[in-house]
Amino acid sequence: MVETENILIKKTWEILAGVSDPEIPVLTILDLGIVRDVVITNQQIEIIITPTYMGCPAMDMISMNIKAAMLEHGYKNISIKNILSPAWTTDWMSEEGKKKLKSYGIAPPNPKQIVCTPNAFQEEEVVQCPKCNSYNTQLISRFGSTACKALYKCYHCHEPFEYFKCH
Ligand SMILES: [Zn+2]
Repeated sequence: MVETENILIKKTWEILAGVSDPEIPVLTILDLGIVRDVVITNQQIEIIITPTYMGCPAMDMISMNIKAAMLEHGYKNISIKNILSPAWTTDWMSEEGKKKLKSYGIAPPNPKQIVCTPNAFQEEEVVQCPKCNSYNTQLISRFGSTACKALYKCYHCHEPFEYFKCH
C-alpha cells in the first residue's frame, strides 16, 4: 500500500516535469520551483503549488495544464492546492531553469548587489545581457510583456532584452 503510494507520487512528479510555464514555454513548472509537494490522501493526488506572483494570470492556466497532463496519464482523482505562504521567490528557480531562461533570451533573476555611488550606497540589480553577457545594461521599463519581467537595453550589443525580475 505504502509502496503503491510512493510509486504514484514518483509518477506524479514525472508528469509535473513535463508541464511547461504558459508564459515562458522553455521552463517547466519544476524549473520555476512552484510545486511544493505531492500528497496522497484517500487515493486522491493532491498537488501543492505556490504562485509565482499574487494574481498572476498564468497561475490559473498552470492549474489547468497540471490537471490536463494528469488526465492524459489516466489520473482523474486529483486536486490542486495553492499555498501562498511562504511566498515564492526567484531563489526557488532551478539553476537549470536559469540557464534555459538565458538561452531563451531572457536574463535570469540576479540577487541585488550593494553598489557604491557618489551619493550613497544603493541596492541595485546587476543585470547581464543574455545575448552578449555584458553588464553594461540599463532599465528601460519596470514592466515588460508581463508583470514578472522588466525591459532592459544593452549598451554593448544595443539589443533590448527582458529580465525576469528578482523578488
Ligand atoms: Zn548585449
